[in-house]
Amino acid sequence: MLNILLFGPPGSGKGTQSKLLIQHYGLKHLSTGDILRKEIAEQTPLGRIAQHYIDKGELVPDEVVISIIEEMFAEKNLKGFVFDGFPRTVAQAKALDSMLIGIKKTICIMIVLQVSEDELIKRLLNRAKIEGRKDDELSIIENRIKVYQNQTAPVLDYYKAQGKVFIVNGMQPEEAVFKEICYNIDNFSQCK
Ligand code: AMP
Repeated sequence: MLNILLFGPPGSGKGTQSKLLIQHYGLKHLSTGDILRKEIAEQTPLGRIAQHYIDKGELVPDEVVISIIEEMFAEKNLKGFVFDGFPRTVAQAKALDSMLIGIKKTICIMIVLQVSEDELIKRLLNRAKIEGRKDDELSIIENRIKVYQNQTAPVLDYYKAQGKVFIVNGMQPEEAVFKEICYNIDNFSQCK
């Protein structure tokens, strides 16, 4: 079972590349951001908690996010996953690893999309015009990038220690990024 962790700051192209990857490898897309936005749209209790953090560009508390993932893992007939936007803290990474161990699986590879800060801001402001996401507003974007650097970037070292990290230049055209990601997966995945 192929489990891919797609990692990078907001606006680095994780959503776009995830869609291509799930098609190519027949995997399930697991985006905690998408799940949380759905909870908000449906006005569930979990959605109300999440909205408070998302609107400010802060991370939703670990226990809330981890409980969502636990629920998904309770499903029968699990396919491999593309994890998009999760884990975002080392605590989430540790929780994910122990859940995977519980079903005798592992993260096979972590792909990091590298994009300059100027380009991230440009892309997210552009997305705001198309999708109208409330958290794609300049001051919130800046906070999300800061949160990524402070709280999420340490997840990289956590998986580096496991020899699973491969960096891809996310500034290239979409198809070139996808090709480089697939090359890394096909050659360096720790799952056979
Ligand atoms: P995304 O769609 O991945 O950019 O996520 C949008 C927002 O949802 C983030 O800025 C966080 O507020 C929240 N969020 C998504 N995934 C997580 C996560 N794994 N941990 C904490 N908060 C998250």
